Amino acid sequence: MGTDTNPFNSLQEQIDEAAVYLDVGDDVIERLKHPERVLETNLTIERDDGELERFKAFRSQFNGDRGPYKGGIRYHPGVTRDEVKALSGWMVYKCATVGIPYGGGKGGIVIDPDEYSETELERLTRAFATELRPLIGEDRDIPAPDVNTGQREMNWIKDTYETLENTTAPGVITGKAIDSGGSEGRVEATGRSTVIAAREAFDYLGEDVSDATVAVQGYGNAGWIAAKLVAEMGATVVAASDSSGGVYAEDGLDPVAVKGHKRETGSVVGFEGANEEITNEDVLTLDVDLLIPAALENAIDEELAHDVKADVISEAANGPITPDGDAVLAEKDVYVVPDILANAGGVTVSYFEWVQNRQRFHWSEERVNDELETIIVDAFDALTDTYEENDLASFRTAAYVVAIQRVADAYEQAGSFP
Ligand code: GLU
Repeated sequence: MGTDTNPFNSLQEQIDEAAVYLDVGDDVIERLKHPERVLETNLTIERDDGELERFKAFRSQFNGDRGPYKGGIRYHPGVTRDEVKALSGWMVYKCATVGIPYGGGKGGIVIDPDEYSETELERLTRAFATELRPLIGEDRDIPAPDVNTGQREMNWIKDTYETLENTTAPGVITGKAIDSGGSEGRVEATGRSTVIAAREAFDYLGEDVSDATVAVQGYGNAGWIAAKLVAEMGATVVAASDSSGGVYAEDGLDPVAVKGHKRETGSVVGFEGANEEITNEDVLTLDVDLLIPAALENAIDEELAHDVKADVISEAANGPITPDGDAVLAEKDVYVVPDILANAGGVTVSYFEWVQNRQRFHWSEERVNDELETIIVDAFDALTDTYEENDLASFRTAAYVVAIQRVADAYEQAGSFP
């Protein structure tokens, strides 16, 4: 674990792997492997003690052929320019895989948010929103939450944008709180699609996810909701971890109680319902039926992939498996439902939020979840059709074959300008 594989190289390798099966020119593929533009900026804010501090921040707009750029903003000390570029590219192919009318973008600030007060984070978020203002807009680029950001940050960005533009434009950002124009079901959406996709994969293999044992690596918003929902389907969540370590219980953990413990103590470690404390790496290599990586990129590299014992992996995180790791897993017949389908529930419900904002209308949670279910199941079926037709090595390559074709078609249909 902890490989230094560059995620941007991983993205390009994934595109190259799929391009072989497509009737798309090399020149177009080359275009689809690079961002259209990347903003790199330095934000200086005043700390609560009056000192100034500078933070590096990025926004990559990867491709807008299918619609406005779309994708989250993360706050993490490990954010780099190449990471943001990769994440923005994954958004392009994610939106195309599930067929929602967006391109892809991503942003990030290099910061450990735990070290800063709420007022400092608000100043920083508003400084970033001010810098982003000329680039974003309801029809241009629509940010959203990602690692370590949520409703609070989205509400601040919306307010900054609307104040500076002297307008109301709730659709400029998604993942807002309900009273600020957010959607029902948005908070749960990433975890929900991860388990819908896992359920479909088990079904495809002639098995039932309700009989599965499950390990979840990462217990943030995506991971813990996935644990809760898969347990509601009848599966047994035997392990969960976060950056401090993991817990194991042979007869199953109560995902909601684990979350309660994390909320109180800051970590899943020490949860009294567990039989054993295990490492993050142990969680990834447990003998379970379903593994859900829900933390950061590169969790499973070539070396670790050799030790993976799960039959199915559903990627709640973006880029948790390196291309070398993927090759090992394919060799071992481990079925990986790729991030660009499995975790696409987040951006799909962001799309529903944006549609509701544009219509100044509010959907019920039931409607949101029903429409999400349809989109994920249809996308999974398109993926498996392509997988079989082309006799592909992995579901990931199948997803890229579907997605790249859709982006390339949109590019071609637009004709040439000037
Ligand atoms: N950050 C999420 C992702 O990686 C959601 C993006 C969005 O809702 O625009 O898919």
